[in-house]
Amino acid sequence: MLSLIENGRREPKLSLIEALASALSVSTDELLRRQPPSRRAQLEIALEEAQRDPVYHDLGLPHLRVGARVPNDVIEHVVGLYTELRKQRAKPTATPEEARAANADLRAMMRERGNYFAHIEQVATAALTGAGYTGGALSQGMLLSVVSQHGFSVKYARDLPRSARSVTDLRNGRIYLKQESMGMHTPRTILLQTLGHFVLGHSAPADFADFLRQRVEANYFAAAVLVPERPATTFLREAMTARDLSVEDLRDVFSVSYEMAAHRFTNLATHHLGLPCHFVKNDESGTIYKAYENDGVVFPSDTAGAIEGQRMCREWSGRQVFYANDRYSPHYQYSDTPSGTYWCVAFVDPGRERGSAITLGVPYEHSPWFRGRETTKRVTSACPDGDCCQRPPAGLAARWEGMAWPSARAHSHILSATLPTGSFPGVDEAEVYAFLDRHEQE
Ligand SMILES: [Zn+2]
Repeated sequence: MLSLIENGRREPKLSLIEALASALSVSTDELLRRQPPSRRAQLEIALEEAQRDPVYHDLGLPHLRVGARVPNDVIEHVVGLYTELRKQRAKPTATPEEARAANADLRAMMRERGNYFAHIEQVATAALTGAGYTGGALSQGMLLSVVSQHGFSVKYARDLPRSARSVTDLRNGRIYLKQESMGMHTPRTILLQTLGHFVLGHSAPADFADFLRQRVEANYFAAAVLVPERPATTFLREAMTARDLSVEDLRDVFSVSYEMAAHRFTNLATHHLGLPCHFVKNDESGTIYKAYENDGVVFPSDTAGAIEGQRMCREWSGRQVFYANDRYSPHYQYSDTPSGTYWCVAFVDPGRERGSAITLGVPYEHSPWFRGRETTKRVTSACPDGDCCQRPPAGLAARWEGMAWPSARAHSHILSATLPTGSFPGVDEAEVYAFLDRHEQE
């Protein structure tokens, strides 16, 4: 029974804690402290945990029992070797092919469940309820109360390592953030994504697929706290009844970015409203950054099934919005594609990363519920047929083939999004540790 308690599988009663403390002649405080009582104890715990790891287990060595006479140096060596072994074996780095395959698997999993994660919704609802949330957009005070309820405080630091969006000091229960937004991520979303990892019980990612899954779940948690399921669903149902569904309104009511509102719509649309849909984020050149669908729309993809980094059809709304006279107003259109006709709304968020369009679309038969359904703009897209827009018209090709030498712009941001390295991908651990040390005594 003690081992169940030690491993966190069972919660002890207060009376039991008191009895244990008095039997061991220590205070209850000491018993409940997370930190090991001494370096020696810390090493022994680390060695025990190491020996339970399959990576260690696979070596086929007999279990090492640490008696009082085994010196610290020896345990330190074994633990050091194990740590390095684990690093070597379980690097969440991936080849481009593996990264694409992991992305494709994740997308298939999201499609299967209509992008709705019931367990994360429950965790988010519980966190909000615990903080006393009653409805509407999440205030800063409410946000901090959600965070403190889970044992964390928030600190803003100007010298946060460049490779990290946030750094968490698990010893002192502090989450360090920068005050300004990073790309589309505001300090609020970064804070909640960070908290999401702990609330959802994530441990250091075992491989690249694990890293991606954790990131999706943490982002989902953040969105589910900022745009809570119950009030958001009520709001969307009413809008649907009024035939006035709109991402803009969802954005305004919950004070989030357009991108988060559109993405959050995909979480709730199928499960609660019975609407299949798709979501795309692309830049002005048509390069796709994020994509989701469960409505049968066919995104361009490479042979491994990767969509990120592919160029989207020029006729689709996410590209047409850039040709519109007013690119900062929502752009509505119907698109006839080989997999059917879709109604879509695309929007370029002016305050955010420049040149990204967010598109939300649904099959034609579901368009009557949406604001913008009366648009008369209708396009035909034959992609992936190369004659649609991927190949230049024959006349131009005949004139210019062999006579043009474009110099490509490097898409380093796409590469870094799919190919991070290190045990926390893309993060400089040495920098992070130095940072934490610097701030610990504040
Ligand atoms: Zn096309």
